[in-house]
Amino acid sequence: MNMLESAQALIQRSAKHLGLKEAEIEAFISPVAEHDFEITVDDITHHAYRIQHNNKRGPFKGGIRFHPHVDKAEVRALATLMSIKGAAVNIPMGGGKGGVAFDPREFDDAHVEKVARAYVRALQEHIGPDKDVPAPDMNTDGAVIDWMVDEYEQLTGDTSKASFTGKSIAGGGSEGREEATGRGGVIALREYCKKHGLNTNGLKVAVQGVGNVGFYFAKIAETELGVSVVAAANSKVMKYNTEGLGFGDKVFSRHIMDELNGEIRPSNDIIQADVDVLVFAALGEVIDTENQAEIQADIVLELANGPVDDEALQQIEARNVRVIPDVIANAGGVIVSYLEWLQNREGEHWGEARVNAKLDEILTSAMSDAMKRAESDGVLLKEAAFVIALERLV
Ligand code: GLU
Repeated sequence: MNMLESAQALIQRSAKHLGLKEAEIEAFISPVAEHDFEITVDDITHHAYRIQHNNKRGPFKGGIRFHPHVDKAEVRALATLMSIKGAAVNIPMGGGKGGVAFDPREFDDAHVEKVARAYVRALQEHIGPDKDVPAPDMNTDGAVIDWMVDEYEQLTGDTSKASFTGKSIAGGGSEGREEATGRGGVIALREYCKKHGLNTNGLKVAVQGVGNVGFYFAKIAETELGVSVVAAANSKVMKYNTEGLGFGDKVFSRHIMDELNGEIRPSNDIIQADVDVLVFAALGEVIDTENQAEIQADIVLELANGPVDDEALQQIEARNVRVIPDVIANAGGVIVSYLEWLQNREGEHWGEARVNAKLDEILTSAMSDAMKRAESDGVLLKEAAFVIALERLV
């Protein structure tokens, strides 16, 4: 089951639970607009997309990824998940997603900058502070977004900076945005454990993916929840250390795996790590019906978008592995994006403590709503998040 099929299956199930009509479900599933175009720079053509899924609750909102796997079905799935995410955590933002199908690591910065600027030129009429507010995603960061903002300003004269979020701090970004997705995952895990009477101190954790999201999750979870991150993997290797890999005092770098002190194992072994909590913080479509039985953890935290497919989700939940769903667990990024957009519109710059406190308040209440709904309606936590979102959206 691919990510789009999984998202749509969850929507169908949750919508039927709510008694929505088939026509209402179909209308929600189909995106408002799909922009599908080509970008040619330095004589190389890359395929690009921006899918605007739903803007009922606010402007379309979602990241732009630069990755060779990007295709229309993936961007559609991710845009759909953004609509659900914004509604599940109750921020006034809709759902959208974009992508360019290329690997930026194979090109120099000058080429990547040209791609970023060309992307904005192609979409300039369709984006803007009240229309569609893109942000970073896989392989895009504050530097890429700053180029996009600059291009957008030159084209339109808009100097509000509210046309994009995830900007660098110097470029009008928010304090705490870089850590926000990881921090949100920590809050979701903390609230889940609190509700179920689990002490987080000493919980053993494995993290797949040590990019920005996985790294800050590991660091903040160690520092603030006292967990022990015993395993971490990137696409090449896994590092394992029963004493903990010691993320607490590390600084984020692209070479973080080399700095971790642990036994080297094959990357894929992370799925079967003997831990309490398994965190997916890399790609989507990692767990399906073929490999779900390998999971030994009691809790799965979806920090990536769509790492567990819908059939596998039901199978692992049936054997009492609890999944903290992506649409809440990784919503910290878009929540702080929303706070960034608010600050830009008001001409304010908040301190980090204020940003983090607001993020905490929004996510804690989203987790509480979803956990209560799962209990009262006898549905899985992920289904509860979808039910709440659809109730607000349809
Ligand atoms: N790309 C992130 C996500 O998948 C953040 C989106 C945003 O900040 O708009 O949630």
